[in-house]
Amino acid sequence: MDFNFTKKQHLLKQTIDEFCEKEIVPYADDIDHEQIFPEKQIKLLSKMGIMGMSIPKEYGGAELDNVSQTIIMEAVSKACASTSVTMGAHTSLTCFPLVAYGTKDQKQRFLPKLASGEYLGAFALTEPNAGSDASNVETTAVKDGDEYIINGSKIFITNGGKADLINIVATTDKSKKHHGISIFTVETKKAKGFEIGKKEDKLGLRGSNTNEIIFKDMRLPKENLVGGIEGMGFKIAMGVFDSGRIGIGVQGVGIAQAAFDKALQYVNEREQFGRKLAKFQAMQFYLADMATRIEAARLLCYKAAFIKDQKKKYAQVAAMAKLYGSEVAMYCSRLSLQIHGGYGFIKDYPLERFYRDAKITEIYEGTSEIMKLVIAANLLGKGF
Ligand SMILES: Cc1cc2nc3c(=O)[nH]c(=O)nc-3n(C[C@H](O)[C@H](O)[C@H](O)COP(=O)(O)OP(=O)(O)OC[C@H]3O[C@@H](n4cnc5c(N)ncnc54)[C@H](O)[C@@H]3O)c2cc1C
Repeated sequence: MDFNFTKKQHLLKQTIDEFCEKEIVPYADDIDHEQIFPEKQIKLLSKMGIMGMSIPKEYGGAELDNVSQTIIMEAVSKACASTSVTMGAHTSLTCFPLVAYGTKDQKQRFLPKLASGEYLGAFALTEPNAGSDASNVETTAVKDGDEYIINGSKIFITNGGKADLINIVATTDKSKKHHGISIFTVETKKAKGFEIGKKEDKLGLRGSNTNEIIFKDMRLPKENLVGGIEGMGFKIAMGVFDSGRIGIGVQGVGIAQAAFDKALQYVNEREQFGRKLAKFQAMQFYLADMATRIEAARLLCYKAAFIKDQKKKYAQVAAMAKLYGSEVAMYCSRLSLQIHGGYGFIKDYPLERFYRDAKITEIYEGTSEIMKLVIAANLLGKGF
């Protein structure tokens, strides 16, 4: 058992930490308070090759292993969760399914543009009646000669109002439930019948874009059916989420670490009753509890990434990583805010931002309740 990063991973961590400190952290409060889409930060991440981190080199990507991708997600999340979700929706939800399940033609057409940052990506599954129950998708895809005609709408889509390319989940035959589901790639600027709907006003991740998108008799060439076979969409979506959950777990770890770092600094500065807060045992216990949980959550996330790199089954540990990483984000952002007292509650300090950003990690890419179902299903076997 080896808990060490490789030399390359160490160097990557150092590079991305320095980059985030200089190019993201100073802007994170404004991104949140003013709801500024982190376009500038995403462009810089593209320049560094990070938007193509999950894409093979032959298509212009950086082809990083999963541990390295997890290092990047943790660092960017620690700096600014609005930026990390914008990045993650692209690298994990959009690029990964095309890399893992796309046809050769789809890889050649889409991956170089996604790798270079020319295209920003999104993944659209959720609908008003299909959230946790992904098989209940009502957006329809009807074959018409060499095309599919798509009708329906999606809600809560990260990058939905900004993306150049969106992988959308639709049904070709609702009676077949999840066996009737397929995924189609939409180049939004080219697709007639693609419309951008309501932009959401959110509790956290306020710089990220969360949008409704609408399809009205939108025609797509049959070559845009991901994987080229109808009915594969549910399997692909579940694969995308298994993988994406490592990223959300470590997004929680990044937020938790940012909150912890502020707490550690504050207890050594703030004095009450003639003593530094660090001298009070209650504060010490908070720090100890936070540090222990962060370490445990981090180990789960990196274990999941490591197992994925080993090409072994990782769905259960990825669900555990997400479940616990998100709990730790909530726990640490709450305690760090508490340690800051009234100062934690006001917008001059980033604690309230961490507290608001942490909440979503318990909801998207499968809620905590769904994570427990996934873990239990893995423990009990399919027939329970
Ligand atoms: C900021 C943001 C960004 C998002 N980005 C994307 C995106 O990019 N793409 C995308 O497709 N979607 C996205 N989503 C949607 C997100 O994935 C869903 O909100 C999430 O999956 C939960 O679905 P729901 O909101 O419909 O809740 P519901 O499914 O209605 O759940 C409501 C409650 O019921 C519980 N519940 C549901 N079913 C069960 C069950 N079987 N057992 C026990 N409890 C259950 C849930 O855990 C939850 O507590 C985003 C959402 C937000 C808020």
